[in-house]
Amino acid sequence: MAEVIDGKLVAEDVVATVKRLTADLLAKHGVTPGLAVVIVGEDPASQVYVSSKGKKAKECGFHSVQHTLPADTGEAELLKLIGDLNADPAIHGILVQLPLPDHVDAGKVIQTIAPEKDVDGFHFINVGKLGTGELATAFVPCTPAGSMLLIERVRGKDLSGLNAVVVGRSNIVGKPMANLLLAANCTVTIAHSRTKDLPAIARTADILVAAVGRPEMIKGDWVKPGATVIDVGINRIPAPEKGEGKSRLVGDVAYAEAAKVAGAITPVPGGVGPMTIAMLMANTLVSASLAAGIERPS
Ligand code: NDP
Repeated sequence: MAEVIDGKLVAEDVVATVKRLTADLLAKHGVTPGLAVVIVGEDPASQVYVSSKGKKAKECGFHSVQHTLPADTGEAELLKLIGDLNADPAIHGILVQLPLPDHVDAGKVIQTIAPEKDVDGFHFINVGKLGTGELATAFVPCTPAGSMLLIERVRGKDLSGLNAVVVGRSNIVGKPMANLLLAANCTVTIAHSRTKDLPAIARTADILVAAVGRPEMIKGDWVKPGATVIDVGINRIPAPEKGEGKSRLVGDVAYAEAAKVAGAITPVPGGVGPMTIAMLMANTLVSASLAAGIERPS
């Protein structure tokens, strides 16, 4: 059976380091990292995410601010808020919770965030830095950055020459994940909905990352024996066995089957999920350190 990669534990490690370095930053330089989270509208899932980001930021010792705007907030008002946060020296990280309402151009909002405060790593400057391998100064999107840390925990830092297959090509997960693996000298294949014979391609992977959003799509016999399997997917499916109307979370990988073949695998929940918030904290700490003229913590 595969080693189960405990994302909760690794995330706790990351947060413990962030807490320690945050206390150092305050003691030695008088700087407290500041994270502003902006939410527009009342999408229940977004509210849960935003509240857990705020809680974690406080736990890390950050200055944590939440701006909750009504669903009918105009684009100009939102852009003005981003401008104010860009100019606020107490704020080092700005996160706009997606999705935004349809009448707001989300791309425009994201591109208005100052790149040095773009702790989600979605600004073109940060996307470009990641794409050109300028990792030392880039903010990398939190979910792929966290996935990479989990991969390194299992396989060590030297991933040179390994075959990596990333299933999914979104700007938030698939593409940045592929770029990180490429920067780590893997031979990377990006698969998507038009890919032919996905099972055969998946079977070439020493590192298989699933970021699709389709429950248990990746079967056990798609997995190369001994592979490291990172399941980014979070899918809610009905669970009548738990009672009427109940549901449960599953990943994009058929876990029970894949765990019999893989060398290591992330569970859902408890794998990649907890890493995303932890890496957001790490990015905010990095931003605050750079703003204070201190070397980027590794
Ligand atoms: P998107 O919907 O933006 O992208 C999904 C990708 O999967 C697309 O590139 C799509 O291909 C590809 N795809 C869809 N169907 C197939 C198929 N049958 N075969 C091969 N590829 C397919 O999703 P995200 O990247 O935003 O998220 C992916 C999953 O990760 C979701 O379950 C999401 O909930 C989860 N997630 C988890 C996070 C965490 O913190 N753990 C954070 C972010 C996301 P094409 O481009 O051709 O359409």
